[in-house]
Amino acid sequence: MAPAIGLPPASTFPQLCFVILALSGSAIAAKGSTKRISIGSVFDVESEKIQTAFRFAVDRFNTIENSAQLKLNPLSRGNRRTDSFSLGNALCSIMSKGVFAVFGKANSSMLATVKSYSDTFQIPYLTTSMAMNTTDQSPYMLFLRPINIRAIVDLIEHLGWRVVHYIYISNEGLMRVQQLFQVMGKSDLQMTLNVKRASDVTSYVILKELHHTNPELDIHAVLDMSIPMASELMNLLSEDPRVHNRRFHFLLVEPGIQELDFAKIGLYGYNVSGFQLVDFNNMTVRLFLSDWTKIDPAEWPGAGVKTITYEAALAVDAVSLFTRAMKNLSNLGLFESLFIRARSGANSSKTCAAERLNVWNKGKHVLKAMKETEFDGLTGRVAFDDRGHRKEFTLDVLDIGITRGAVKIGYWTPRDGLTMLKRKMVRPINAPSSENRTRIVTTIQTPPYIMKKPKPIDGHPLIGNDKYEGYCVDLARKVAHEVGFDYVFQMVKDGAYGSKLANDSWNGMVGELIRLEADMAIAPLTISAVRERVIDFSKPFMSLGISIMIKKPADQKAHVFSFLDPLSYEIWMCILFAFIGVSVVLFLVSRFSPSGWHVEDESNITNDFTISNSLWFSLGAFMQQGCDFSPRSISGRIVGSVWWFFTLIIISSYTANLAAFLTVERMSTPIESAEDLAKQTEIEYGTLRSGTTEAFFKTSKVAVYERMWAYMTSKTPSVFTDKIQDGITSVRDSNGKYAFLVESSTNDYINNRLPCDTMKVGSNLDSKGFGIATPAGSDLGDKLTLAVLKLREDGELDKLQKFWWVGKGQCTPQDKNTDGGQSALTLSNVAGIFYILIGGLILAIIVAVAEFLYKSKVDSKKSKTSFGLALKSKARLSFRSHPAREDSSSGTLLRKSMSRYTYTGPSQSMGFDTVPEGNTHTQV
Ligand code: ASP
Repeated sequence: MAPAIGLPPASTFPQLCFVILALSGSAIAAKGSTKRISIGSVFDVESEKIQTAFRFAVDRFNTIENSAQLKLNPLSRGNRRTDSFSLGNALCSIMSKGVFAVFGKANSSMLATVKSYSDTFQIPYLTTSMAMNTTDQSPYMLFLRPINIRAIVDLIEHLGWRVVHYIYISNEGLMRVQQLFQVMGKSDLQMTLNVKRASDVTSYVILKELHHTNPELDIHAVLDMSIPMASELMNLLSEDPRVHNRRFHFLLVEPGIQELDFAKIGLYGYNVSGFQLVDFNNMTVRLFLSDWTKIDPAEWPGAGVKTITYEAALAVDAVSLFTRAMKNLSNLGLFESLFIRARSGANSSKTCAAERLNVWNKGKHVLKAMKETEFDGLTGRVAFDDRGHRKEFTLDVLDIGITRGAVKIGYWTPRDGLTMLKRKMVRPINAPSSENRTRIVTTIQTPPYIMKKPKPIDGHPLIGNDKYEGYCVDLARKVAHEVGFDYVFQMVKDGAYGSKLANDSWNGMVGELIRLEADMAIAPLTISAVRERVIDFSKPFMSLGISIMIKKPADQKAHVFSFLDPLSYEIWMCILFAFIGVSVVLFLVSRFSPSGWHVEDESNITNDFTISNSLWFSLGAFMQQGCDFSPRSISGRIVGSVWWFFTLIIISSYTANLAAFLTVERMSTPIESAEDLAKQTEIEYGTLRSGTTEAFFKTSKVAVYERMWAYMTSKTPSVFTDKIQDGITSVRDSNGKYAFLVESSTNDYINNRLPCDTMKVGSNLDSKGFGIATPAGSDLGDKLTLAVLKLREDGELDKLQKFWWVGKGQCTPQDKNTDGGQSALTLSNVAGIFYILIGGLILAIIVAVAEFLYKSKVDSKKSKTSFGLALKSKARLSFRSHPAREDSSSGTLLRKSMSRYTYTGPSQSMGFDTVPEGNTHTQV
């Protein structure tokens, strides 16, 4: 199977990998219609992987594709060292065998030799080398490696580099520098290019010295050298402990940045940007690699792994290009004539002596066929322009940063130039080895999600994830178990949840995920649209909404006058005025209405409704008692009936409320909703900074919330807090003068914790959920969602929530009771009515005494006796059973004084007048 390799003793071709792909007429054996095509290759030891890929591509074509028309017959030449002379010999010996096309890799000095041979023999030459002169016409050459000078310039421009150190090793590098200057001349890029030629990898010394001159300066270096050499340079540079690796940003010229060991480079802390020609996600590449990984590396050096170098991929594409072009020719019917000509050429030409040179003039057909062939190969679209340069190719732009492996940040095409991917589209390119690594879980300390465990009593320090406890700690453990990954918690460095800053960057946990400083966030991180644009979220593991937390107002204990509470102060006042008003109206209408008067005898026409009787009637009705006189006139009865109706309703309402007001201790909160908050300024309110709660008010279009946002932003000192705990402390310490807008789950938890002095008021302002966040395109995204859904369906999430919210609660139901509770009526609830009773009795005694004294005074004046005597006789009179008979003078006086009221009916239970017993029925 292995091709025949001849090593001419005198051949010295340094840095030459040379493969000759030949259609040799002599080696073609026509089996039916199948043509066997001999393939020759010349290579040096350094290009082992290219040679392997070439051999493998040939073998794959012959065995897997199993073309009915073509079979490739490999024929190789190898050189340990190369020079132009032996290269010429090798080319000549193979081309003279009827070669259709030549494939090889040659350095810049060799290219001239190759060009002259291929031009002379008119045989197409395919190379993995880059075209050295973008304008030069090499009619028989096809350059498989795309020219990426413009891409380099565009990327430097994008990175904003102003001073660039360009380090190159070979002559090609020098030529690329020249091309770079040409391209820069055409663009308006303002950049200082410091070009340095190094003989080998020891060029790291140049960079080291540069760094030591000013360690604080960022060094931007373009490395024009092979990928292994660039990698070695970085290794050597990092060996110096005085070198701050993060100060270096390298740009690799070779379009195979994925050949670097990301994990190692990431650990070093360098920033590396570069290009990638082979897209490992591409289907063609994956199909190829599925075969490539299966073969034995002992026989196929460099194979048997999941990756392929870009140069090896170019060799595979060269074989594909050739076979496709040949198939096309055969389809066109041209193949036979070429085939015959090749055989005759091979027979007639044994040497390269000029006089015996047998030029095969059909090479241009093969070249044309290859230039016209287009297909999707391992290196993307394989298509050539007239000059034999690759066109329509795509170079992925990759970036390797600290701790995050590589990410594709954009791509470059000759037509559109550099296109940077939107943040969300930036995909981490995990090195195959990285899938089993320990994941970094960013989180934030907030009870009860993540809390530091108290120090154990035995004094053993807690380490790693054991240091923390909480809902999210348990959740992370369960999710990691479901998905199958190791993880380590890392507290978010800036202590924020994540909001977009003025410069479009993000802070907090969201920022860390975007910058790939963490693999996921398991925290009370709210799913929101703006965040979803830049990171991925799992399905929510908890539902919540923005709510209001206030300090619990002191309980309104029942007081001695609680029985007045069922009606408000205003109503009591209205009742009082209504009472007076009704009494006055009753008095007036009874006066005006003739039927209000009645004749006792000829000399005495009486009216029951004196002003005091009217008041007494109204009061009697109001107290549901009634009295023994009532209006006789229609108008009076109307007044009476409406007043009765009024009292009926008022007393019913009072009675209905009374029980509740006497037995229920009410808690009246100063605010009940966001609207209440918005329309007052006495109680301050605020939110957490850099979170979705702040963003909710900031972006809300609802008038109330807009007003609240305007208020919050206008307040100094700020009402926003950096930590949730600070907001809770403000609520507790500000004596009811600060309300905190916080997510309901946190609100509920805190209200259940000592000192049980906070409460949630009103309904939630919105509804949303917490999710596990991952960087956009993370390999774990879907798996985490599945794990969350499973945990939810199994009831694990409910259990967790109950454990941390209810199980860890510290407040009793009474503490939590926001609306009071039913309890037995105590004396304190009704003491007020006893006070009134006692007060009334005392008042009555005082009034009686005052009356007594007053009457005694009047009597003493009338009877012209001393006040003391009058007092005595009055006293005697008062405690006699028939005072009227004992003291006719005073009885007369009393009767006289009563004559003006003239009441005829019996004074019964009402005790209507102050007429002493015995005189009550006295008629004047
Ligand atoms: N959980 C919220 C967030 O993710 C924090 C808040 O704003 O209340 O932003």
